[in-house]
Amino acid sequence: MIDNLIDGKQIAGQVTEEVQKRVEALKAKGITPGLAVVLVGNNPASQTYVNNKTKTCERLGMYSILIQLDEGVSEAELLNQVELLNNDEKIHGILVQLPLPKQIDEDRVIAKISPFKDVDGFHPESVGKMMIGQQTFLPCTPFGILKLLEYSNIDVAGKHAVIIGRSNIVGKPMGQLLLQKDATVTYCHSKTTDLHAFTKQADILVVATGRTKMIDASYVKEGAVVIDVGINRDENNKLCGDVDFDSVKEVASKITPVPGGVGPMTIAMLMENTCLAAENTSKN
Ligand code: NDP
Repeated sequence: MIDNLIDGKQIAGQVTEEVQKRVEALKAKGITPGLAVVLVGNNPASQTYVNNKTKTCERLGMYSILIQLDEGVSEAELLNQVELLNNDEKIHGILVQLPLPKQIDEDRVIAKISPFKDVDGFHPESVGKMMIGQQTFLPCTPFGILKLLEYSNIDVAGKHAVIIGRSNIVGKPMGQLLLQKDATVTYCHSKTTDLHAFTKQADILVVATGRTKMIDASYVKEGAVVIDVGINRDENNKLCGDVDFDSVKEVASKITPVPGGVGPMTIAMLMENTCLAAENTSKN
């Protein structure tokens, strides 16, 4: 066991234990939190993610349904499916697994999900509320990273956080959430010149590029906290991140492994968001 490891599996276990208590409290009031996961096509990685999500729901005593649609499904059919789920009282959270096939406009599908059921936090209304610090569903991966930092007693205020990646689902919201926690934030991306110059300044380095083991120790300041979001396969088909774990663990003060780091937290936060969505309906 490496002593500077941030154990996402263990922290996700703690988070889901808390969620389970909330699920039980809701059930005592006659409400079973329900999650609908919509999967289009046969992408094997998406299949795995979706199975993990529905299995975790079941383990926590939540209701879950998986709707599988053919790769060739039309946008209209998918939008119709989302509408049915928007109107289904047993469903509190809706997740459409991305990416979607080319014939479908992802933005239109995301916008169709009721903001009350937007447990992925991707709807423009949720994103807007997050930006201005209003209560909303936070996107699960950056939300999970905040929890990892919190449970590891890593204070973010005043630290320089450098995010590599600016996707709508990871990089961009990650920077915003860290900013709200009073970090000084720098975004880097594929057009950044001299990446090293930025990453070497990072007290907290979040890597979300989708580039296998791209970040080695030469990018990392001694004592930095390194969060690896990537999920890739190496040359031996073994799961690995965007960070070269073996070299970076020697310089980082704390580091997340892949697997067992950010991944389990993403699922845990989805459970928390679904539970929150159900709690919100019980207040109406
Ligand atoms: P995207 O492909 O949408 O975004 C990748 C980002 O990395 C882009 O902003 C891109 O820049 C930037 N980038 C790519 N190459 C470089 C480079 N050489 N130097 C600097 N920046 C670079 O990916 P996602 O954000 O969706 O996902 C990132 C990774 O995280 C993937 O491995 C994915 O599988 C994983 N992931 C893991 C999750 C989990 O639960 N653990 C959840 C979601 C994703 P530009 O914008 O200029 O193109």
